Amino acid sequence: MTVVGDRQSASLLSALAEAPDSAAASAFLVAQLAELSGAQRVSMLRLDGAQEALVCVAAIDGGSPVSASALALSDLNNPLVVSTLSLSPIVGKTALRDPFEAYDQWTSFPMTQPRTRISPPVMNRQHASELLAPQKLAPIARPERPGVAPGGVIVIDRILPPDLFDELAELVTLASPMIVRLASLEEAWANVDRLGQQSERFRIMVNSLPDPVVITTAANDIIVQNHRAERLLQVREEDSPGRRRAIELNNLLFTSFLAKAVMTGSIQSGPRELNLVDPDEGNDLLFEVIAHPLGERVGPEDAVLSVLRDVTDLRRAANELERQIQRVRQAEQKSSSERDRLNLILENVADPILVTDERSNIILMNDQAEQLFEDRGAVPRNRRELQAIRGNDTKFTSFISEFALLDSDARRERMVLTNPGSGSDLPVEVVSGKVRNDRREAIAIVSVLHDLTKQVENERLYEALKQLNADLENRIREATADLAEQNARLQWQSQEVERANKLKSEFLASMSHELRTPINALIGYTALLLDSVLGEITQKQRDALTRGRAAAEHLLALINDILDLAKIEAGKMPLHVTEVGIRDVVLEVGQQIEPMVRKKQLTFNTEVVPGTPSLITDRTKVKQVLLNLLSNAVKFTTKGTVTLRACPVAGGVQIDVSDTGIGIRPDDLQAIWEDFRQVDQSRTREFGGTGLGLSITRKLLDRLGGTVTVKSTYGEGSTFSVTLPLSVSQTDIRSMDN
Ligand code: ADP
Repeated sequence: MTVVGDRQSASLLSALAEAPDSAAASAFLVAQLAELSGAQRVSMLRLDGAQEALVCVAAIDGGSPVSASALALSDLNNPLVVSTLSLSPIVGKTALRDPFEAYDQWTSFPMTQPRTRISPPVMNRQHASELLAPQKLAPIARPERPGVAPGGVIVIDRILPPDLFDELAELVTLASPMIVRLASLEEAWANVDRLGQQSERFRIMVNSLPDPVVITTAANDIIVQNHRAERLLQVREEDSPGRRRAIELNNLLFTSFLAKAVMTGSIQSGPRELNLVDPDEGNDLLFEVIAHPLGERVGPEDAVLSVLRDVTDLRRAANELERQIQRVRQAEQKSSSERDRLNLILENVADPILVTDERSNIILMNDQAEQLFEDRGAVPRNRRELQAIRGNDTKFTSFISEFALLDSDARRERMVLTNPGSGSDLPVEVVSGKVRNDRREAIAIVSVLHDLTKQVENERLYEALKQLNADLENRIREATADLAEQNARLQWQSQEVERANKLKSEFLASMSHELRTPINALIGYTALLLDSVLGEITQKQRDALTRGRAAAEHLLALINDILDLAKIEAGKMPLHVTEVGIRDVVLEVGQQIEPMVRKKQLTFNTEVVPGTPSLITDRTKVKQVLLNLLSNAVKFTTKGTVTLRACPVAGGVQIDVSDTGIGIRPDDLQAIWEDFRQVDQSRTREFGGTGLGLSITRKLLDRLGGTVTVKSTYGEGSTFSVTLPLSVSQTDIRSMDN
């Protein structure tokens, strides 16, 4: 009995061929098999794409499709797997395993597909029998078909009569390759879509790379390139001639680069550098080329993928970095040598030096500064020293902190620190300067402390001296003022005296004549009486007249002297200058004084030393001078000798008048020259005189250009020495004549 006729199977197959997809075709076949076999349940399990599992693609469960399920192809205990792999139908009278436990009686038909590279091998029947034997099942032999491979299995929940079994087996054998191929076609399309998407994604990815990527053949023809590579290497129609030239140059450079790489066999030996030109900007670009040989998988066997990494900026940055490093290194060297120098200076400067950072921390100091500021653990310090150090540190730090906030670059201030060693005050001048970097930020402050102890002491001394000086000046000023006042007073007094003196002289000069006339008359009449011309007089009358005449003569002498003095002082005594021989003068005054000497019984000596020159002078006045001195000598000498001696001296003549008389007290030596001065009143009364002689003598000598001095020993005698010039000077003569 033929259930499925040839025509029916032909139309079934053509219907299958027209199915829109494998799912529809599978459902259609399953439905047909259910109908033809009268089975309740039919399932189609197809090998999946990876050929590792059986996947249910269509089923009917009592008229309705059942959910998809899968069986692992490795599960060789499952009769459906064995049926699939051995291409043998199997008939079972006991229920199948989950999820097909509803199939209590069943028949499986293997599906086939054309053999491909990846299709699983066909299991031989012997192996299948061995696998099925434990379940009391056996593969059913079917005619061998060469070139086919397992493609899946269809299971129905019935045991079929033999002719229906054969017919359905045949139908499945014919239909299954179509369904499997349709499915694999769908899969292929899906793959194509997927690959298309994937390739699109890769394309976008590659195009979005900033680096040019190029695939070239051995002939250096570009097969593929990304956008960035196109911009550098592909000429477009609208390109300007400049851009074209740049791109042609790039191609030339790139090709020669590749050729060289091939020649030197260095395609795979790491990145190499390539210079290109930016067609838009015209500037040079530097690339690092990483080349991969691609091999036959993706194109011509000798294709090369080149990735050009733009390292222009990188190289520029690297160069810049290198330069910076060089600069830093140089700066380091410089700063280290400067630091050495600085240290040398610090160690050799006698003043304390400190360097502080921008936060006023001390970062460097020399030994001198350490003694003031650092608590060196090595040297044990007592409490007082520590206190001094801390105090110094506080003062210095607050000064520096303040300075750090200021805008100025330098600061100079005095402060008083404490000497930790002695505990005494240490006045210092702090001079600080800021060290700035290129950006004018202060990075350090250098401070030098200058010991002012000496200076402060000097200043104190200077102040004291200044005060002393001022006091002295004040005193001098006061004294000077006093002196000036006294001076003024004296000047005034001397003017007054001079005026009075002049008045006196004028008065005397005019009055002397009036005085002399009556005295002369008095003397004349007294002489007449004494000579008894007017009659005889008694002895008593004679005595009285004699005393009267003596008094009148004394008065006349006095008046004569006063007259002389007044004449001299009034300038009314003219000089009569002639040549005067000293020997003559000495002789004449000697004769004149002779009677007086004889009267007192004295010895009188004269001597003129040979060579004593003549003088051009006033003879009368020289004689008057010598007579004055001789009469004094005789007057004040009671016994002994009076000597007159002349000798030559430089520029003139000296004449000494010596006596062995009473002498003059040293205290009186000055006073004897004054007008009317008689130094010893009591004794002078004894000797007589007016007190004007020496005064007149001196004034006469003044007129003659001479001098007079005295040497005397009280009680032993005196020597008056006169010097006279060889000639009275013309000025003196003239002044005398006035
Ligand atoms: P007088 O007319 O009193 O002599 P003078 O001017 O000549 O006046 O002398 C002044 C004074 O100097 C005298 O009074 C006397 O005391 C003293 N004197 C002058 N010459 C001598 C002398 N040779 N010996 C001692 N005393 C003298």
